[in-house]
Amino acid sequence: VQPLLEVKGLQKHFAVKGGVFGRKKRVIKAVDDVSFSVREGEILGIVGESGCGKSTTGKAILRLLEPSSGEVMFAGKRIKDLEAKELRKLRKDMQIIFQDPYASLNPRHTVEKIIAEPLLVHGMAAKAARKQRVKELLEIVGLNSYHASRYPHQFSGGQRQRIGIARALANHPKLIICDEAVSALDVSVQAQILNLMQKLREEFQLTYLFIAHDLSVVKYISDRVGVMYLGRMMELADKDTLYENPKHPYTQALLSAVPTPDPDGIRERIILKGDVPSPANPPPGCVFHTRCPQAMDICKTAKPAFQEMEANHFIACHLYT
Ligand code: SF4
Ligand code: MG
Repeated sequence: VQPLLEVKGLQKHFAVKGGVFGRKKRVIKAVDDVSFSVREGEILGIVGESGCGKSTTGKAILRLLEPSSGEVMFAGKRIKDLEAKELRKLRKDMQIIFQDPYASLNPRHTVEKIIAEPLLVHGMAAKAARKQRVKELLEIVGLNSYHASRYPHQFSGGQRQRIGIARALANHPKLIICDEAVSALDVSVQAQILNLMQKLREEFQLTYLFIAHDLSVVKYISDRVGVMYLGRMMELADKDTLYENPKHPYTQALLSAVPTPDPDGIRERIILKGDVPSPANPPPGCVFHTRCPQAMDICKTAKPAFQEMEANHFIACHLYT
């Protein structure tokens, strides 16, 4: 089956000025050769510490940031090749939800206006029809139609994220990219929003790319999970495989820091030396080699390929080649 979303060798490099007088041009490799695909109806989690390139990956897929190279295919079509009309349709099919719903909701607009805006943009001209659809959407996300006349500041964080979700759903999207969508919420509210997202997936055959730094949140919602570090994908596998049997030294270290409720499941905490290097000056070879407890000589010079080492288990590490 053809995946809904296919990302091949995606790169996003930013040129920044460096040096004492800002004369030296430096390149930040925010996303460096990332490949993965997302099946229709699946939730693919992408996890990693801040600055690992996961948000940039999401934005480059949507072309909110122009990719430096690589390909993004949606439903078998290369996004780069789309005509303006098809690209507009794609803008309906792919939506993004950000961490802070408050920042992305115009404080001077009523909820009705906020949710109706994408409807208007995509051609629902009749006001009565928009009003009706807004009412429907509010109910879909667990709010009430009387909320339509209120303003964002009158809602809690969880309710505001529901409004953000309603707006994202307005034009019947296929793919929703969630970028730290529940990170600002309390744990109990997080669970409510994650459950709502699961329910909506069933109801509307949605596919999610779920980007977050929180390993537990990603584990809770995802079917498969990819781990990023310094702009590269390190490992990607089914959720259970990745969490129970991580192969990549970075994934092992990340997961060793998560407390497990099962006493037999206690892993020895792996403390990594040093800090994450700057993406403006990533280490040669394996970008993780400066911190990897298992680094070998080859790791300092040769970049490990991201390869399917076992069925559906992708790893970028010389230990497995
Ligand atoms: Fe560690 Fe080498 Fe594997 Fe990189 S390639 S994760 S440095 S063992
Ligand atoms: Mg981010």
